[in-house]
Amino acid sequence: MNLAWQIEQYLPRQLLELVKDISRQAVERGERVYLVGGIVRDSLLGYPNFDLDLVVEGDAVKLAQQVSETSQARLLAYHRFGTAKLRYENFTLDMATVRKETYARPGALPTVTPGTLQDDLIRRDFSINAMSISLASNNYGELIDPYQGKNDLEHHLIRILHPGSFSDDATRILRGVRYEQRLGFKFEAQTAQLLKRDISMLDTISGDRIRHELELIFREKQPESAIKRLAELGVLPVISPFLKGDGWIAEKFDRARRLNKPPQLPSLYFCLLIYSLSESELEPFLTRLNISAKLSRMMLDTLRLKTSLALLDKPSQKPSEIYYLLREYEPAAIQVNAIASDYPMVHNHLQLFLTKLRYVRTALNGEELKRLGFSTGPEMGKALQILHKAKLDGEVDTRAEEEKLALSLKAPNFRTDLEPSR
Ligand code: ATP
Ligand code: MG
Repeated sequence: MNLAWQIEQYLPRQLLELVKDISRQAVERGERVYLVGGIVRDSLLGYPNFDLDLVVEGDAVKLAQQVSETSQARLLAYHRFGTAKLRYENFTLDMATVRKETYARPGALPTVTPGTLQDDLIRRDFSINAMSISLASNNYGELIDPYQGKNDLEHHLIRILHPGSFSDDATRILRGVRYEQRLGFKFEAQTAQLLKRDISMLDTISGDRIRHELELIFREKQPESAIKRLAELGVLPVISPFLKGDGWIAEKFDRARRLNKPPQLPSLYFCLLIYSLSESELEPFLTRLNISAKLSRMMLDTLRLKTSLALLDKPSQKPSEIYYLLREYEPAAIQVNAIASDYPMVHNHLQLFLTKLRYVRTALNGEELKRLGFSTGPEMGKALQILHKAKLDGEVDTRAEEEKLALSLKAPNFRTDLEPSR
């Protein structure tokens, strides 16, 4: 089968020209270049995908260097294991020398040795990701599909390439679920059986790698379907026995998307995923997945605030009370609780803090209070706090009103709480 038409159709013009130029330069060097992985899968499906993975029968690093010297593409990085990254406008192209991978033990990083295109395809996760398209001029566009990936695409199947695949690298379990849910596919019967057999192999995978796969899931359009499926397959409890992938998660993930912009979503999804846990249940999860200090703080704050939400369920609550209750928490943790809470009043109070109260500032600052005769130290601190509280509660609005209030505080009968009364 020839896919020249699909490539010409889907790739932006300049990117296509660059790819052709790379292939021309490769041929001059006696090498050959192929498109591989996601781009091939998505071209067959008719989905746009501009993340290009190229494999080179030859020296990918030297080729990438040469291309960066003779075109607009910049060499972003290269590695002595034969991989290089080029950047061209908004596109990145990953280039790699064809290689063979073997696993010394389950979950280990693979041992990489030089190989053939066939070796490079069989080391891959699923048949639908193990196809390539030749870019050389004599068979430009030819599909190379030794594992019947196209047939599996047509039958909507996710299939591993050999029975030891999941035990070699159990991250493929998470990857498989991600593709299955993204594409609306199903695991092929034997793959499904082997997946079940090898679920416990996830214990051989480092926390960083498992977390990375969850991060990839959280970049999907509707990650809740993958989370639900992971729960159904019994994968979630292997990551942490307390995680659930139920209807609650689906509803809240959807609400998170309606209330937030895409860049914020992955960390919100992470916090929603652990929302039903207690702090002591969270601890082993943080360790197992080597969660960053920043995200750990967000998760812990989320759970702490969760236990205090009842304090926000009062109709006559003053804005300043809401402010003092919430100001110590990470804004993202407040957002998670706003998404999670089923009580409209709690939700509204949390949103009020996030959208308004946390930004409220007095018009007068310390310098201006000094000019009004306040001395620096506790007197001024107290006055600023009173002004801020009045502003939060709408008791003052304009600068003139703040000045009036400040001056009333200076009146002879005004005592700050911080000073002993005489
Ligand atoms: P996506 O649309 O999710 O980016 P992709 O196919 O481009 O899909 P990448 O994660 O960018 O996926 O990886 C590129 C290719 O590398 C995959 O198509 C697959 O062939 C291979 N690959 C990635 N991770 C693994 C793995 N753990 N085991 C085997 N092959 C893998
Ligand atoms: Mg990719």
